[in-house]
Amino acid sequence: MCPYCDSQYQFHKKQSNNIIICGQCGEPLSKKPLITLTQIFALITVTSFITPLILMIFSYIKEINKPKFDINLASTIHQRLIKT
Ligand SMILES: [Zn+2]
Repeated sequence: MCPYCDSQYQFHKKQSNNIIICGQCGEPLSKKPLITLTQIFALITVTSFITPLILMIFSYIKEINKPKFDINLASTIHQRLIKT
């Protein structure tokens, strides 16, 4: 994909030296595209959305791993022992 031309009107040509160029502006497209500013902003946006989600999941896992159930079970057993 050529970053300079409208994607609707883009057509690619392959040169004899195996380099794909944009048919409209002649920009070589074989090289890896540089990270554009919009990509960086998109990455930041995605990260800012995902990071609290990951933190939420981690705190949820922590909550699960808390020995809440064991404490309750131990106290009920203790209560039963007192009653009998
Ligand atoms: Zn182009």
